[in-house]
Amino acid sequence: MILAQEREAVVRFCREMLAENLTTGTGGNISVFSPEEKYFAISPSGKDYRTMVPEDVIVLDLNLNTIDGSLKPSSEFAMHGIFYQNRSDVNAVVHTHSLYATAMACLGWTLPPFYYLNMIAGTDVICCPYARYGTKELAQFALKGMENRNAVLLSNHGLLTGSKTIEKAFNIAQIIEKACQIYLTCKSTGVEPNRLNNIQVDEMLEVFRNRGYSNGH
Ligand code: 13P
Ligand code: ZN
Repeated sequence: MILAQEREAVVRFCREMLAENLTTGTGGNISVFSPEEKYFAISPSGKDYRTMVPEDVIVLDLNLNTIDGSLKPSSEFAMHGIFYQNRSDVNAVVHTHSLYATAMACLGWTLPPFYYLNMIAGTDVICCPYARYGTKELAQFALKGMENRNAVLLSNHGLLTGSKTIEKAFNIAQIIEKACQIYLTCKSTGVEPNRLNNIQVDEMLEVFRNRGYSNGH
């Protein structure tokens, strides 16, 4: 089986996404790119994560042609592929429908640098314009929205993260979801949370760079 490790990782992290409450049902999708093969493994469309096996994962090339796999690839294959076509710092993409990130995306709000762990994804996380799920337009909005960053909120839809490894992309999705929860909890008091200043932000960007997070650069 080609891309066996990447396919196995897609299955493992799809299950983890469900177990960690980062999505419901078959929502969201995950892909892992092999820089050596120049192919990526992506979760199948609408498949139950609990019964998914590595053979169900589809392998695509950078022109988005299917190389291996009999199921339909995720409807968001263009949104995953565009990162492998354009970002050498991205080898894994995670798309979730997690509650608080999606609430932020429905409000069209930016997650500002108010919480020290935010900097895992860059200085802030912006919300890109709306386009229907599965479209090339959404893929382009997501790529632009994640410029100089490793996460973007998809308007009225959910969260997208990308990083060097699937472990890192998944960790970013977990932390940004938590940060959105904290932000909305603060906002529910009617008060804007305190922001970190530029020096404090730069310090945390440096911490994450040293841990192998590119912060989008
Ligand atoms: P797929 O099941 O086709 O991956 O779609 C889920 C989704 O989240 C669409 O944005
Ligand atoms: Zn989605």
